[in-house]
Amino acid sequence: MKDCVFCKIAQGKLPATKLLEDKNAISFLDINPVNHGHVLVMPREHYETIMDVPGKEFGKVMEMVPSLAKAVAEVTKADGLNIFQTNKPCAGQTVPHVHFHIIPRHKDDGFHFGWRQGRYNEGEIDRMQWGILKALG
Ligand code: AMP
Ligand code: ZN
Repeated sequence: MKDCVFCKIAQGKLPATKLLEDKNAISFLDINPVNHGHVLVMPREHYETIMDVPGKEFGKVMEMVPSLAKAVAEVTKADGLNIFQTNKPCAGQTVPHVHFHIIPRHKDDGFHFGWRQGRYNEGEIDRMQWGILKALG
């Protein structure tokens, strides 16, 4: 897609510090890493969010994630690792070409998700299950 920074990287029109790439997917180092070794993985083709990617395409992109994660963890001597993904600005997406973050983590690295733990009132979880299953078809 015209004017998409990540499409330009996928097409070799913008430089990036590339790692694994194949005909479906490409991975490279994030220029503003949460921790050194923070990697981005994405489909070559332009999809804005995960909701736009056909399941089979998604699988092809995910194929390279475990080996990248293993290599990143080894090189950065990580104590742990997060796989993270954003969709739309309200969820933190700043580049509208779907991508996954592989973030090596270290004990006391000061990065926190601030995970909230909500709750369901009586019957709400069952209605949610029903609604999602219906949407799945
Ligand atoms: P998100 O905020 O989830 O959309 O993630 C976008 C990520 O892309 C951020 O972590 C940026 O630091 C990173 N980023 C933006 N432009 C580039 C670029 N040209 N090369 C490498 N990483 C980039
Ligand atoms: Zn794009």
